[in-house]
Amino acid sequence: MTAAMDIAITKATESKLKSTSFEKLVFGKDFTDHMLEADYENGEWKNVEINPFGPIQFMPSMAALHYGQAIFEGIKAYKNADGEAFIFRPYDNWKRFNISAQRMQMPEVPEEIFIEGMKQLVAVDEDWIPTKPDHSLYIRPVMFATDESLGVHASKKYKFLILLSPAGAYYDAPMKIYVEETYTRAAPGGVGFAKNAGNYGGSLLAAQKAKEQGYDQVLWTDAFEHKWLQEVGTMNVFFIINNVAITPSLEEGTILNGVTRDSAIKVLHEMGIHVEERKINIDELIDAYKAGTFTEIFGTGTAATISRVKELRYQDFSMYFDLEKYNIAKELKQRLTDIREGRAEDTYGWMLPV
Ligand code: PMP
Repeated sequence: MTAAMDIAITKATESKLKSTSFEKLVFGKDFTDHMLEADYENGEWKNVEINPFGPIQFMPSMAALHYGQAIFEGIKAYKNADGEAFIFRPYDNWKRFNISAQRMQMPEVPEEIFIEGMKQLVAVDEDWIPTKPDHSLYIRPVMFATDESLGVHASKKYKFLILLSPAGAYYDAPMKIYVEETYTRAAPGGVGFAKNAGNYGGSLLAAQKAKEQGYDQVLWTDAFEHKWLQEVGTMNVFFIINNVAITPSLEEGTILNGVTRDSAIKVLHEMGIHVEERKINIDELIDAYKAGTFTEIFGTGTAATISRVKELRYQDFSMYFDLEKYNIAKELKQRLTDIREGRAEDTYGWMLPV
């Protein structure tokens, strides 16, 4: 823990809270009254301020626009039944943010800005945290390069922001996905483990092609054989085979180290489900499906927590999953939601009080 830092707070003259419809929240569309800003220049962080949420000005030559030094995070805050505000595992996101920063040749953001700044910002906009089930306040830290000259090299100046956006219940209809064999999200030595903006820009075409064919997302595979499974869309993936949960391992650096993935592994253990983190390929899934032992597949991520899959297609072979009969994913989601919304004891110390 570090000492609370002095953050200059300029309050918005008028709150948008009353004019924001909490009944019809669209993910990432509405923002709270304030945001946190900080600048990195001459090797140090400065101007750490909480300001009214609004436009910021940059030169057209801003480095992030040209060479993609931009990273972000996604975190959620909740209120329990007593109205106390908590942030879910922000230290894990802070660590991952700095891993992304290191890979993208960007400066690390210290704890007193990322964590303390986030706590103070959430406290300022605390009234924006929805209290309805499955609702939350989505927290978006982002950092990007702000040098104002062209030339491919690491920028010397950066901007760090934290934005807050109230989020409604995620409509997690069971997904139809297919195994992606044309496009690749990540290869060893690349940036798959980082949460840099380019990973998302690079994934959009595959997602669009999936939609055009009536699928919700793709199951990413390795760059060489297109057989080894990585992630589903922007979520980590779990397969239940013979009542064992298998999730692709992190060693190759092609997968984002999901905070929900880690939480799911711990809660699955609690449920008495054995978890294996290892390489897994599509042939193993097909064999297990044909043998009747591959019973569930789901994604994990901050936005939806757990998203179940009802159909997985590989080339012209479709696998269907009985979501009524098999419900490890359902119980896992309930347990995770109960911890986050304060109905179950926080035995792991995941909830940081604001
Ligand atoms: N993989 C990718 C590519 C993601 O963008 C995300 C969402 N951050 C995840 C996995 C899930 O990570 P988390 O559980 O930390 O949200």
